[in-house]
Amino acid sequence: MMTVDLRSDTVTKPTPGMLEAMWSAKVGDDVFGEDESVNELEAKAAAMFGMEAAIFCPSGTMTNQIAIKCFTQPLDELIADQTAHVYRYEGGGIAFNSAVSTRLLNGYRGILTAEMIEPEINAVGNIHYPNTSLVVLENTVNKGGGSCYTLDQIEPIAALCKRRNLKLHLDGARIFNALAHTGDKAVDYGKYFDGISVCLSKGLGTPVGSVLLASKNTITYARRIRKVLGGGMRQAGFLAAAGSYALDHHVERLKIDHIHAQILADELAKCTWVTNVMPTETNIVLFDTEGPADAVVAKLLSKGIKAGCTDTKRIRFVTHLDIHPEQIEYTVQVLKNL
Ligand SMILES: *Cc1c(COP(=O)(O)O)cnc(C)c1O
Repeated sequence: MMTVDLRSDTVTKPTPGMLEAMWSAKVGDDVFGEDESVNELEAKAAAMFGMEAAIFCPSGTMTNQIAIKCFTQPLDELIADQTAHVYRYEGGGIAFNSAVSTRLLNGYRGILTAEMIEPEINAVGNIHYPNTSLVVLENTVNKGGGSCYTLDQIEPIAALCKRRNLKLHLDGARIFNALAHTGDKAVDYGKYFDGISVCLSKGLGTPVGSVLLASKNTITYARRIRKVLGGGMRQAGFLAAAGSYALDHHVERLKIDHIHAQILADELAKCTWVTNVMPTETNIVLFDTEGPADAVVAKLLSKGIKAGCTDTKRIRFVTHLDIHPEQIEYTVQVLKNL
């Protein structure tokens, strides 16, 4: 029986080309700043997004949490959508690491506008209020079903942040999926954000790692915070080489994942036991089931298809590097006969 793992785009294994790049990486002690492969990855990623500098970290949780620490002071407040990964899925780290409170907004599929944000910014100088200092956007929005911001939507938010003296951070775990969908250019992102977190271990298919991009000064402080969190890695170049390889070879192909997701979404829309399929823009398909979702997930698993419930009646499929056309065809056949 075929196995089709649609649980997450984090389940990918390195390709032969990526393993070769890792195997032959030039490495050194990165805590001393001497790992060539880490330095190369950081420079490459920063340049791609028009940012001054970058820092390689073990996870996207760490890059986001470091960014929040860099852009806030204790007793500040950040603004994010209620679906935000930084709030929901980082273990309460905002309060723990930064002693910052979170103001959650109700965007459409996780997408915020300047009009939604502006009334939520606290007045400066009133001791009753936490000091609003940071806005965090997510692109694509994981819990929004891979929904995307265009740069045209981001620009007014960035302008508001500038006007009200707030920092703007992007949780770009899947930013390359957003770029593949919108056609915006990575290099233009640097103009709008103070910090950008990019995951290398999602759609890009590396085993480990994320990069935080920001100004030189911010990254200098970020290196201190990474050390405090225990994220200073030594010969990390073996992992960074996988990241550089992915930036060179795995960005263009993301559109294949999006085509695969659309095929699944189209088939699901025809299934009588599916009550709703969320709009599918990138590599995530969210859909609602008539009966309990876990029963459907168990049925799929008996056919070799792995998926996750995100709610009692909601299932998530995520396409990625290790999902090939024949697995999509097989999944479509199973869905037809379920
Ligand atoms: C996966 C993900 C992250 C980072 O997760 P790690 O598992 O810590 O690398 C951050 N934000 C979003 C939206 C994600 O999907």
